[in-house]
Amino acid sequence: MTPARTRIAPSPTGYVHIGTMRTALWNLFIARQTGGQYLIRIEDTDRARIVKGSIENLIEVFTPLGLQPDEGPVLVKGKIEYTGEHGPYVQSERLDIYKKYAQQLIDQGDAYYDFATKEQLETIREEKRALKQPMKYDRSQAEFDVAKALARIEAGEVAVIRLKVPEGETVVEDEIMGTVKFNNIEVDDQVLVKSDGFPTYHLAVVVDDHLMKITHMLRGQEWLSSTPKQILLYKMLGWDAPKFAHVPLLLNADGTKLSKRQGDVAVGDYLRRGYLPEALINFVATLGFNPTGDREIYTVEELIEMFDLCKVKRSGAVMNMEKLDWMNNQYIKQLSIEELAKHAEDFVQADASNETVQRALFVERERVNRLDELQEKITSYITEPAYDPSIIIWRKADAADARVQLEGVLALLRDADDTVFGSVENLEKEVKDYIAENELSNGNVLWPLRVSLSGMERSAGPFEYLWVLGKDQGIARIEKALTLIA
Ligand code: GLU
Repeated sequence: MTPARTRIAPSPTGYVHIGTMRTALWNLFIARQTGGQYLIRIEDTDRARIVKGSIENLIEVFTPLGLQPDEGPVLVKGKIEYTGEHGPYVQSERLDIYKKYAQQLIDQGDAYYDFATKEQLETIREEKRALKQPMKYDRSQAEFDVAKALARIEAGEVAVIRLKVPEGETVVEDEIMGTVKFNNIEVDDQVLVKSDGFPTYHLAVVVDDHLMKITHMLRGQEWLSSTPKQILLYKMLGWDAPKFAHVPLLLNADGTKLSKRQGDVAVGDYLRRGYLPEALINFVATLGFNPTGDREIYTVEELIEMFDLCKVKRSGAVMNMEKLDWMNNQYIKQLSIEELAKHAEDFVQADASNETVQRALFVERERVNRLDELQEKITSYITEPAYDPSIIIWRKADAADARVQLEGVLALLRDADDTVFGSVENLEKEVKDYIAENELSNGNVLWPLRVSLSGMERSAGPFEYLWVLGKDQGIARIEKALTLIA
Protein backbone atom coordinates (compact mmCIF):
# COMPACT_ATOMS: atom_id res chain seq x y z
CA MET A 1 0.00 0.00 0.00
CA THR A 2 1.39 3.42 -0.89
CA PRO A 3 1.55 5.61 2.19
CA ALA A 4 -1.37 8.02 2.13
CA ARG A 5 -1.09 11.67 3.05
CA THR A 6 -4.35 12.99 4.42
CA ARG A 7 -5.34 16.25 6.01
CA ILE A 8 -7.97 18.29 7.64
CA ALA A 9 -8.04 21.96 6.77
CA PRO A 10 -10.01 23.76 9.45
CA SER A 11 -10.64 27.47 9.43
CA PRO A 12 -9.84 29.11 12.78
CA THR A 13 -13.40 30.19 13.43
CA GLY A 14 -13.80 29.12 17.06
CA TYR A 15 -14.77 25.76 18.49
CA VAL A 16 -14.10 22.33 16.96
CA HIS A 17 -17.24 20.86 15.43
CA ILE A 18 -18.00 17.21 16.09
CA GLY A 19 -18.12 16.68 12.30
CA THR A 20 -14.54 17.95 12.04
CA MET A 21 -13.54 15.40 14.65
CA ARG A 22 -15.06 12.58 12.61
CA THR A 23 -13.37 13.74 9.41
CA ALA A 24 -10.09 14.05 11.30
CA LEU A 25 -10.44 10.52 12.71
CA TRP A 26 -11.12 8.99 9.34
CA ASN A 27 -8.20 10.90 7.82
CA LEU A 28 -6.00 9.66 10.64
CA PHE A 29 -7.19 6.06 10.15
CA ILE A 30 -6.29 6.12 6.44
CA ALA A 31 -2.87 7.58 7.18
CA ARG A 32 -2.20 4.98 9.90
CA GLN A 33 -3.47 2.08 7.78
CA THR A 34 -0.99 2.89 5.05
CA GLY A 35 1.92 4.08 7.16
CA GLY A 36 1.41 7.58 5.82
CA GLN A 37 0.93 10.98 7.42
CA TYR A 38 -2.03 12.96 8.67
CA LEU A 39 -1.75 16.75 8.46
CA ILE A 40 -3.52 19.77 9.82
CA ARG A 41 -3.47 22.91 7.72
CA ILE A 42 -5.02 26.13 8.93
CA GLU A 43 -7.19 27.85 6.34
CA ASP A 44 -7.33 31.45 7.44
CA THR A 45 -7.82 33.27 4.16
CA ASP A 46 -11.27 34.45 5.22
CA ARG A 47 -9.86 37.07 7.56
CA ALA A 48 -13.23 38.34 8.76
CA ARG A 49 -14.16 35.00 10.31
CA ILE A 50 -11.00 34.42 12.35
CA VAL A 51 -11.50 33.86 16.07
CA LYS A 52 -8.44 34.31 18.25
CA GLY A 53 -7.27 31.23 20.14
CA SER A 54 -8.93 28.82 17.69
CA ILE A 55 -5.75 26.94 16.85
CA GLU A 56 -4.79 26.52 20.51
CA ASN A 57 -8.30 25.28 21.20
CA LEU A 58 -8.14 22.86 18.28
CA ILE A 59 -4.92 21.30 19.49
CA GLU A 60 -6.04 21.20 23.12
CA VAL A 61 -9.20 19.36 22.14
CA PHE A 62 -7.45 17.06 19.68
CA THR A 63 -4.59 16.05 21.97
CA PRO A 64 -6.57 13.83 24.37
CA LEU A 65 -8.28 12.35 21.32
CA GLY A 66 -4.97 11.32 19.77
CA LEU A 67 -5.59 13.63 16.83
CA GLN A 68 -2.34 15.57 16.95
CA PRO A 69 -1.05 15.82 13.39
CA ASP A 70 2.16 14.36 11.98
CA GLU A 71 2.60 17.70 10.25
CA GLY A 72 1.07 21.01 11.22
CA PRO A 73 0.35 22.80 14.50
CA VAL A 74 1.32 21.15 17.79
CA LEU A 75 1.21 22.50 21.30
CA VAL A 76 4.63 22.69 22.98
CA LYS A 77 4.52 23.96 26.56
CA GLY A 78 1.27 25.75 25.91
CA LYS A 79 2.55 27.41 22.74
CA ILE A 80 1.72 26.61 19.13
CA GLU A 81 4.59 25.35 17.05
CA TYR A 82 4.60 23.83 13.59
CA THR A 83 6.16 20.54 12.64
CA GLY A 84 6.77 19.08 9.18
CA GLU A 85 8.64 19.77 5.97
CA HIS A 86 5.81 20.96 3.77
CA GLY A 87 5.02 24.19 5.57
CA PRO A 88 4.06 26.84 6.22
CA TYR A 89 0.88 25.12 7.42
CA VAL A 90 -1.05 28.36 7.75
CA GLN A 91 -2.43 29.79 4.54
CA SER A 92 -1.88 33.45 5.42
CA GLU A 93 1.85 32.66 5.45
CA ARG A 94 1.72 31.26 1.92
CA LEU A 95 0.45 34.27 0.00
CA ASP A 96 3.43 34.47 -2.36
CA ILE A 97 2.90 30.87 -3.35
CA TYR A 98 -0.72 31.49 -4.34
CA LYS A 99 0.24 34.63 -6.21
CA LYS A 100 2.59 32.65 -8.40
CA TYR A 101 -0.10 30.16 -9.43
CA ALA A 102 -2.73 32.86 -9.92
CA GLN A 103 -0.29 34.49 -12.32
CA GLN A 104 0.21 31.21 -14.15
CA LEU A 105 -3.57 30.87 -14.59
CA ILE A 106 -3.80 34.44 -15.90
CA ASP A 107 -0.91 33.84 -18.30
CA GLN A 108 -2.56 30.67 -19.59
CA GLY A 109 -5.88 32.44 -20.09
CA ASP A 110 -7.55 30.19 -17.51
CA ALA A 111 -8.28 33.08 -15.20
CA TYR A 112 -9.18 36.73 -15.77
CA TYR A 113 -9.34 40.09 -14.05
CA ASP A 114 -12.83 41.19 -13.20
CA PHE A 115 -14.02 44.67 -12.27
CA ALA A 116 -17.62 43.99 -11.31
CA THR A 117 -18.78 46.05 -8.35
CA LYS A 118 -20.84 44.70 -5.46
CA GLU A 119 -23.95 46.35 -6.89
CA GLN A 120 -23.42 44.90 -10.35
CA LEU A 121 -22.98 41.43 -8.87
CA GLU A 122 -26.11 41.83 -6.79
CA THR A 123 -28.10 42.71 -9.92
CA ILE A 124 -26.85 39.56 -11.65
CA ARG A 125 -27.67 37.50 -8.58
CA GLU A 126 -31.21 38.94 -8.51
CA GLU A 127 -31.71 38.07 -12.17
CA LYS A 128 -30.55 34.53 -11.63
CA ARG A 129 -32.74 34.22 -8.56
CA ALA A 130 -35.78 35.34 -10.57
CA LEU A 131 -34.97 32.68 -13.17
CA LYS A 132 -34.41 30.16 -10.36
CA GLN A 133 -30.88 29.57 -11.61
CA PRO A 134 -27.71 29.23 -9.54
CA MET A 135 -25.40 32.23 -9.48
CA LYS A 136 -23.20 32.23 -12.54
CA TYR A 137 -21.25 35.36 -13.28
CA ASP A 138 -21.95 36.66 -16.81
CA ARG A 139 -18.43 38.09 -17.34
CA SER A 140 -19.95 41.48 -18.16
CA GLN A 141 -17.18 43.34 -16.30
CA ALA A 142 -14.37 40.95 -17.21
CA GLU A 143 -11.20 42.37 -18.70
CA PHE A 144 -9.53 39.60 -20.66
CA ASP A 145 -6.77 41.84 -21.95
CA VAL A 146 -4.19 41.52 -19.19
CA ALA A 147 -2.27 44.70 -20.05
CA LYS A 148 -5.46 46.75 -20.01
CA ALA A 149 -6.55 45.18 -16.76
CA LEU A 150 -3.24 45.98 -15.09
CA ALA A 151 -3.41 49.57 -16.34
CA ARG A 152 -6.89 49.96 -14.81
CA ILE A 153 -5.68 48.54 -11.49
CA GLU A 154 -2.71 50.87 -11.65
CA ALA A 155 -5.14 53.75 -12.12
CA GLY A 156 -6.89 52.77 -8.90
CA GLU A 157 -9.70 50.47 -10.01
CA VAL A 158 -10.47 47.42 -7.91
CA ALA A 159 -10.38 43.95 -9.43
CA VAL A 160 -10.56 40.31 -8.47
CA ILE A 161 -9.19 37.32 -10.37
CA ARG A 162 -11.75 34.76 -11.47
CA LEU A 163 -11.55 31.23 -12.77
CA LYS A 164 -12.60 31.01 -16.40
CA VAL A 165 -14.76 27.93 -16.28
CA PRO A 166 -14.69 26.28 -19.72
CA GLU A 167 -17.70 24.70 -21.36
CA GLY A 168 -18.29 21.01 -20.89
CA GLU A 169 -18.76 18.65 -18.01
CA THR A 170 -16.71 17.98 -14.90
CA VAL A 171 -16.85 14.56 -13.31
CA VAL A 172 -16.07 13.92 -9.67
CA GLU A 173 -15.16 10.32 -8.90
CA ASP A 174 -15.91 10.28 -5.21
CA GLU A 175 -14.83 7.43 -2.95
CA ILE A 176 -18.05 7.72 -0.97
CA MET A 177 -20.58 9.38 -3.26
CA GLY A 178 -19.60 7.56 -6.45
CA THR A 179 -19.55 9.35 -9.82
CA VAL A 180 -21.03 12.83 -9.64
CA LYS A 181 -21.29 14.82 -12.89
CA PHE A 182 -21.49 18.59 -13.10
CA ASN A 183 -22.46 20.53 -16.19
CA ASN A 184 -20.01 23.42 -16.28
CA ILE A 185 -22.87 25.77 -17.17
CA GLU A 186 -23.78 25.50 -13.51
CA VAL A 187 -20.26 26.05 -12.22
CA ASP A 188 -19.61 29.70 -11.35
CA ASP A 189 -16.49 31.58 -12.40
CA GLN A 190 -15.12 31.35 -8.90
CA VAL A 191 -13.16 34.27 -7.48
CA LEU A 192 -9.63 32.94 -6.95
CA VAL A 193 -7.94 36.10 -5.67
CA LYS A 194 -9.86 38.77 -3.82
CA SER A 195 -9.36 42.49 -4.32
CA ASP A 196 -7.19 42.60 -1.19
CA GLY A 197 -4.78 40.15 -2.80
CA PHE A 198 -5.79 37.25 -0.56
CA PRO A 199 -6.59 34.01 -2.35
CA THR A 200 -9.96 32.40 -1.78
CA TYR A 201 -10.28 28.96 -0.29
CA HIS A 202 -10.68 27.39 -3.73
CA LEU A 203 -7.32 28.44 -5.10
CA ALA A 204 -5.47 27.96 -1.83
CA VAL A 205 -6.86 24.49 -1.15
CA VAL A 206 -5.77 23.17 -4.55
CA VAL A 207 -2.30 24.69 -4.39
CA ASP A 208 -1.73 23.49 -0.83
CA ASP A 209 -3.07 19.98 -1.28
CA HIS A 210 -0.83 19.61 -4.32
CA LEU A 211 2.31 21.04 -2.71
CA MET A 212 1.70 19.14 0.52
CA LYS A 213 1.36 15.96 -1.54
CA ILE A 214 -2.08 15.10 -0.24
CA THR A 215 -3.31 11.80 -1.68
CA HIS A 216 -6.78 11.53 -0.10
CA MET A 217 -9.02 14.45 0.55
CA LEU A 218 -11.77 13.61 3.03
CA ARG A 219 -14.04 16.47 3.90
CA GLY A 220 -17.65 17.34 4.60
CA GLN A 221 -20.26 16.80 1.92
CA GLU A 222 -21.04 20.50 1.84
CA TRP A 223 -17.84 20.89 -0.19
CA LEU A 224 -18.91 18.51 -2.97
CA SER A 225 -20.38 21.32 -5.06
CA SER A 226 -17.01 23.13 -4.94
CA THR A 227 -15.13 20.12 -6.19
CA PRO A 228 -15.67 20.71 -9.93
CA LYS A 229 -13.98 24.12 -9.60
CA GLN A 230 -11.08 22.49 -7.85
CA ILE A 231 -10.82 19.69 -10.39
CA LEU A 232 -10.69 22.31 -13.15
CA LEU A 233 -7.86 24.04 -11.31
CA TYR A 234 -5.91 20.80 -10.98
CA LYS A 235 -6.24 20.28 -14.74
CA MET A 236 -5.27 23.84 -15.61
CA LEU A 237 -2.21 23.68 -13.37
CA GLY A 238 -1.24 20.34 -14.85
CA TRP A 239 -1.51 18.41 -11.60
CA ASP A 240 -3.12 15.10 -10.63
CA ALA A 241 -6.01 15.57 -8.24
CA PRO A 242 -6.04 13.58 -5.01
CA LYS A 243 -8.77 11.05 -4.27
CA PHE A 244 -11.92 12.81 -3.12
CA ALA A 245 -14.19 11.46 -0.40
CA HIS A 246 -17.09 13.62 0.72
CA VAL A 247 -18.28 12.63 4.14
CA PRO A 248 -22.04 12.66 4.77
CA LEU A 249 -23.56 15.15 7.18
CA LEU A 250 -24.29 14.57 10.83
CA LEU A 251 -27.96 14.88 11.70
CA ASN A 252 -30.10 15.62 14.74
CA ALA A 253 -32.47 12.88 15.91
CA ASP A 254 -35.23 14.49 13.80
CA GLY A 255 -33.17 14.18 10.62
CA THR A 256 -32.28 17.87 10.31
CA LYS A 257 -28.70 19.04 9.93
CA LEU A 258 -26.88 18.92 13.26
CA SER A 259 -27.39 22.24 14.94
CA LYS A 260 -26.17 24.02 18.02
CA ARG A 261 -29.72 24.53 19.14
CA GLN A 262 -30.55 20.84 19.46
CA GLY A 263 -27.43 19.69 21.22
CA ASP A 264 -23.74 20.07 21.60
CA VAL A 265 -21.72 20.41 18.43
CA ALA A 266 -18.44 21.47 20.02
CA VAL A 267 -16.09 18.58 20.78
CA GLY A 268 -14.67 20.46 23.79
CA ASP A 269 -18.11 20.48 25.41
CA TYR A 270 -18.31 16.70 25.21
CA LEU A 271 -14.94 16.32 26.89
CA ARG A 272 -15.85 18.88 29.55
CA ARG A 273 -19.03 16.98 30.35
CA GLY A 274 -17.10 13.82 31.01
CA TYR A 275 -17.27 11.71 27.92
CA LEU A 276 -14.10 9.65 27.87
CA PRO A 277 -11.89 10.26 24.83
CA GLU A 278 -11.99 6.53 23.93
CA ALA A 279 -15.78 6.46 24.09
CA LEU A 280 -16.12 9.64 22.07
CA ILE A 281 -13.73 8.31 19.44
CA ASN A 282 -15.64 5.02 19.24
CA PHE A 283 -18.96 6.84 18.94
CA VAL A 284 -17.91 9.52 16.47
CA ALA A 285 -15.82 7.23 14.24
CA THR A 286 -18.78 4.89 13.79
CA LEU A 287 -21.29 7.56 12.80
CA GLY A 288 -22.15 6.53 9.26
CA PHE A 289 -19.57 3.74 9.30
CA ASN A 290 -20.26 0.32 10.69
CA PRO A 291 -17.12 -1.82 10.83
CA THR A 292 -18.73 -5.24 11.31
CA GLY A 293 -22.40 -4.90 12.15
CA ASP A 294 -22.23 -7.34 15.07
CA ARG A 295 -21.10 -5.05 17.88
CA GLU A 296 -20.72 -1.45 18.93
CA ILE A 297 -17.49 -1.26 20.93
CA TYR A 298 -14.21 -0.95 19.04
CA THR A 299 -10.74 0.04 20.16
CA VAL A 300 -8.88 2.69 18.20
CA GLU A 301 -6.57 -0.03 16.87
CA GLU A 302 -9.53 -1.97 15.55
CA LEU A 303 -11.03 1.13 13.99
CA ILE A 304 -7.77 1.90 12.24
CA GLU A 305 -7.58 -1.64 10.93
CA MET A 306 -11.22 -1.87 9.85
CA PHE A 307 -11.86 1.59 8.47
CA ASP A 308 -12.94 1.38 4.86
CA LEU A 309 -14.26 4.25 2.76
CA CYS A 310 -16.37 1.75 0.78
CA LYS A 311 -18.36 1.07 3.95
CA VAL A 312 -19.20 4.70 4.68
CA LYS A 313 -22.91 5.37 4.20
CA ARG A 314 -23.87 8.01 1.65
CA SER A 315 -26.78 9.33 3.65
CA GLY A 316 -26.48 11.52 6.74
CA ALA A 317 -25.72 9.91 10.09
CA VAL A 318 -27.96 10.59 13.08
CA MET A 319 -26.26 11.51 16.35
CA ASN A 320 -27.97 9.27 18.88
CA MET A 321 -27.10 10.74 22.26
CA GLU A 322 -28.55 7.81 24.21
CA LYS A 323 -26.14 5.57 22.38
CA LEU A 324 -23.26 7.86 23.26
CA ASP A 325 -24.30 7.77 26.93
CA TRP A 326 -24.56 4.00 26.86
CA MET A 327 -21.19 3.70 25.18
CA ASN A 328 -19.53 6.05 27.64
CA ASN A 329 -20.93 4.01 30.52
CA GLN A 330 -19.44 0.87 28.96
CA TYR A 331 -16.04 2.53 28.82
CA ILE A 332 -16.28 4.02 32.31
CA LYS A 333 -17.14 0.58 33.74
CA GLN A 334 -13.99 -0.88 32.23
CA LEU A 335 -11.66 1.56 33.99
CA SER A 336 -9.52 0.30 36.84
CA ILE A 337 -9.86 2.06 40.17
CA GLU A 338 -6.65 4.03 39.47
CA GLU A 339 -7.62 4.99 35.91
CA LEU A 340 -11.03 6.11 37.10
CA ALA A 341 -9.50 8.26 39.83
CA LYS A 342 -7.23 9.88 37.25
CA HIS A 343 -10.08 10.62 34.86
CA ALA A 344 -12.32 11.87 37.68
CA GLU A 345 -9.80 14.43 38.95
CA ASP A 346 -11.24 17.23 36.85
CA PHE A 347 -14.80 16.36 37.70
CA VAL A 348 -14.97 15.99 41.47
CA GLN A 349 -14.30 18.45 44.25
CA ALA A 350 -12.69 15.79 46.39
CA ASP A 351 -9.19 14.44 46.74
CA ALA A 352 -9.11 11.73 44.09
CA SER A 353 -6.00 10.22 45.68
CA ASN A 354 -7.96 9.46 48.87
CA GLU A 355 -8.92 5.79 49.22
CA THR A 356 -12.51 6.41 50.28
CA VAL A 357 -13.02 8.76 47.35
CA GLN A 358 -11.48 6.24 44.97
CA ARG A 359 -13.67 3.44 46.24
CA ALA A 360 -16.79 5.60 46.06
CA LEU A 361 -15.94 6.49 42.47
CA PHE A 362 -15.37 2.86 41.67
CA VAL A 363 -18.77 1.83 43.05
CA GLU A 364 -20.67 4.66 41.45
CA ARG A 365 -19.08 4.30 38.00
CA GLU A 366 -21.73 1.65 37.25
CA ARG A 367 -24.42 4.21 37.75
CA VAL A 368 -23.23 7.15 35.67
CA ASN A 369 -23.11 7.86 31.94
CA ARG A 370 -20.73 10.78 32.26
CA LEU A 371 -17.94 11.74 34.61
CA ASP A 372 -19.66 15.01 35.49
CA GLU A 373 -22.37 12.97 37.24
CA LEU A 374 -19.87 11.53 39.71
CA GLN A 375 -19.64 14.47 42.08
CA GLU A 376 -23.26 14.20 43.15
CA LYS A 377 -23.02 10.42 43.37
CA ILE A 378 -20.07 10.30 45.74
CA THR A 379 -21.26 13.00 48.14
CA SER A 380 -23.10 10.57 50.42
CA TYR A 381 -19.88 8.63 51.01
CA ILE A 382 -17.77 11.62 51.84
CA THR A 383 -20.10 13.67 53.99
CA GLU A 384 -22.53 12.14 56.41
CA PRO A 385 -25.95 12.37 54.79
CA ALA A 386 -28.87 14.10 56.44
CA TYR A 387 -32.16 12.29 55.83
CA ASP A 388 -35.69 11.73 57.06
CA PRO A 389 -35.43 8.81 59.54
CA SER A 390 -38.75 7.34 58.41
CA ILE A 391 -37.08 6.08 55.21
CA ILE A 392 -35.01 3.65 57.30
CA ILE A 393 -38.13 1.58 57.86
CA TRP A 394 -38.83 -0.94 55.16
CA ARG A 395 -42.33 -0.76 53.68
CA LYS A 396 -43.18 -4.26 54.91
CA ALA A 397 -41.81 -3.72 58.43
CA ASP A 398 -41.97 -1.27 61.34
CA ALA A 399 -39.59 0.75 63.51
CA ALA A 400 -39.25 -1.98 66.12
CA ASP A 401 -38.22 -4.51 63.49
CA ALA A 402 -35.79 -2.04 61.91
CA ARG A 403 -34.14 -1.54 65.29
CA VAL A 404 -33.81 -5.28 65.94
CA GLN A 405 -32.36 -5.94 62.51
CA LEU A 406 -29.89 -3.06 62.68
CA GLU A 407 -28.73 -4.13 66.14
CA GLY A 408 -28.21 -7.68 64.89
CA VAL A 409 -26.19 -6.69 61.90
CA LEU A 410 -24.27 -4.13 63.94
CA ALA A 411 -23.10 -6.86 66.31
CA LEU A 412 -22.05 -8.97 63.33
CA LEU A 413 -20.04 -6.14 61.79
CA ARG A 414 -18.38 -5.20 65.07
CA ASP A 415 -16.98 -8.72 65.18
CA ALA A 416 -15.95 -8.79 61.53
CA ASP A 417 -12.23 -8.54 60.75
CA ASP A 418 -10.29 -6.71 58.05
CA THR A 419 -10.68 -9.53 55.54
CA VAL A 420 -14.44 -9.15 55.65
CA PHE A 421 -14.14 -5.44 55.01
CA GLY A 422 -11.55 -6.09 52.33
CA SER A 423 -14.04 -6.61 49.51
CA VAL A 424 -17.67 -6.13 48.56
CA GLU A 425 -17.99 -9.87 48.00
CA ASN A 426 -16.70 -10.78 51.46
CA LEU A 427 -19.06 -8.33 53.10
CA GLU A 428 -21.96 -9.66 51.10
CA LYS A 429 -21.14 -13.24 52.04
CA GLU A 430 -20.80 -12.40 55.73
CA VAL A 431 -24.14 -10.60 55.95
CA LYS A 432 -26.04 -13.01 53.71
CA ASP A 433 -24.76 -16.04 55.66
CA TYR A 434 -25.93 -14.34 58.84
CA ILE A 435 -29.38 -13.73 57.32
CA ALA A 436 -29.65 -17.34 56.18
CA GLU A 437 -28.40 -18.82 59.44
CA ASN A 438 -30.89 -16.80 61.45
CA GLU A 439 -33.69 -17.39 58.95
CA LEU A 440 -34.22 -13.66 58.47
CA SER A 441 -35.53 -12.01 55.33
CA ASN A 442 -33.31 -9.97 53.02
CA GLY A 443 -35.71 -7.02 52.90
CA ASN A 444 -36.03 -6.66 56.66
CA VAL A 445 -32.26 -6.58 57.15
CA LEU A 446 -30.83 -5.08 53.98
CA TRP A 447 -33.24 -2.19 53.52
CA PRO A 448 -32.61 -0.51 56.89
CA LEU A 449 -28.92 -1.37 56.64
CA ARG A 450 -28.55 0.25 53.24
CA VAL A 451 -30.57 3.36 54.10
CA SER A 452 -28.71 3.90 57.35
CA LEU A 453 -25.46 3.84 55.37
CA SER A 454 -26.49 5.90 52.34
CA GLY A 455 -29.27 8.06 53.75
CA MET A 456 -31.17 7.50 50.51
CA GLU A 457 -34.13 5.44 49.40
CA ARG A 458 -32.32 4.63 46.18
CA SER A 459 -28.58 4.13 46.22
CA ALA A 460 -25.81 1.64 45.64
CA GLY A 461 -26.02 -1.54 47.76
CA PRO A 462 -25.20 -1.88 51.48
CA PHE A 463 -22.09 -3.99 50.85
CA GLU A 464 -20.70 -1.42 48.45
CA TYR A 465 -21.28 1.27 51.07
CA LEU A 466 -19.64 -0.78 53.81
CA TRP A 467 -16.63 -1.43 51.60
CA VAL A 468 -16.23 2.26 50.77
CA LEU A 469 -16.88 3.59 54.29
CA GLY A 470 -14.83 0.96 56.09
CA LYS A 471 -15.56 -0.57 59.47
CA ASP A 472 -15.48 2.52 61.71
CA GLN A 473 -17.51 4.81 59.49
CA GLY A 474 -19.95 2.05 58.57
CA ILE A 475 -20.61 1.20 62.19
CA ALA A 476 -20.92 4.87 63.13
CA ARG A 477 -23.62 5.43 60.52
CA ILE A 478 -25.63 2.41 61.67
CA GLU A 479 -25.39 3.58 65.28
CA LYS A 480 -26.57 7.01 64.22
CA ALA A 481 -29.54 5.47 62.39
CA LEU A 482 -30.43 3.57 65.56
CA THR A 483 -30.57 6.76 67.59
CA LEU A 484 -32.70 8.37 64.89
CA ILE A 485 -35.40 5.69 65.13
CA ALA A 486 -35.11 5.09 68.87
N1 GLU B 1 -11.43 25.22 5.30
C1 GLU B 1 -12.47 24.30 4.99
C2 GLU B 1 -13.31 24.14 6.25
O1 GLU B 1 -13.29 24.98 7.07
C3 GLU B 1 -11.88 22.97 4.57
C4 GLU B 1 -12.55 22.28 3.46
C5 GLU B 1 -11.65 21.20 2.89
O2 GLU B 1 -11.32 20.28 3.63
O3 GLU B 1 -11.27 21.27 1.73
O4 GLU B 1 -14.04 23.21 6.43
